[in-house]
Amino acid sequence: MTPSDASDPRTSNISVRRGDPLVVLSGVQKHYGEFLALKDIDLTVHRGEVVVVIGPSGSGKSTLCRTINRLETITSGTIEIDGQRLPAEGKALATLRADVGMVFQSFNLFSHLTILQNVTLGPIKVKKVRRSDAEREARALLDRVGVGQQADKLPAQLSGGQQQRVAIARALAMNPKVMLFDEPTSALDPEMITEVLDVMTALAEDGMTMIVVTHEMGFARKAADRVVFMADGQIVEQAPPEEFFTRPSSERAKDFLSKLLTH
Ligand code: ADP
Ligand code: MG
Repeated sequence: MTPSDASDPRTSNISVRRGDPLVVLSGVQKHYGEFLALKDIDLTVHRGEVVVVIGPSGSGKSTLCRTINRLETITSGTIEIDGQRLPAEGKALATLRADVGMVFQSFNLFSHLTILQNVTLGPIKVKKVRRSDAEREARALLDRVGVGQQADKLPAQLSGGQQQRVAIARALAMNPKVMLFDEPTSALDPEMITEVLDVMTALAEDGMTMIVVTHEMGFARKAADRVVFMADGQIVEQAPPEEFFTRPSSERAKDFLSKLLTH
């Protein structure tokens, strides 16, 4: 996926970029009360790019995702999605938020709705898509993530891996410009992790712009164009995966990686 000249240090920062800037964070700070959870974050994600965010627990990875999706307000700085600055509230925010699909660690499906209803809810209610069109699209998406046969079941009748794939289909049903994943496999039993990562890898290969918080280093190596390493609310370093995993430049990243490898 990464062009072949990515290993050339002179071009590595350029060649991973695919399209024009799609998500642009500039000088973003986020406080929880007095506590500074994000410190001066500058991050540009290009169209079609897959960025994997890693870092120790509490480093601000979830907060980063939540500010991009505007689930959290920011204290200062700006966030732009496809050239439009995220507004504070109102209809414009709802529209821009629909551009950002999000998949969480917990699948967050509505337990009293069928799989099909979970996937069609957003398009029908928010995007005012006709039910028949929404259902056709939802069935196609459920097929794409490998759970087409489960459409009329309730979430509790599915495995965790199947539910998470439904959550991915549900996010895709809104036709987002970028997909955020916050530790999407952390709540899954080991045998279900692969099926979810495979869906995400296919999505990346299809050209979806993705920001993925994960501890799955195999996925990062395989699917990421760029790894962003966070610690203490800051981006400490970022590099193409091969470079990051073989030659991390910061002590924090070296320490983090050494602990991962010993588990
Ligand atoms: P990560 O996802 O990297 O584990 P988080 O973004 O969840 O980190 O948290 C970053 C820091 O912000 C942590 O110190 C956490 O305790 C703090 N934090 C997160 N959410 C809140 C909140 N709602 N209120 C107060 N502090 C929070
Ligand atoms: Mg988190």
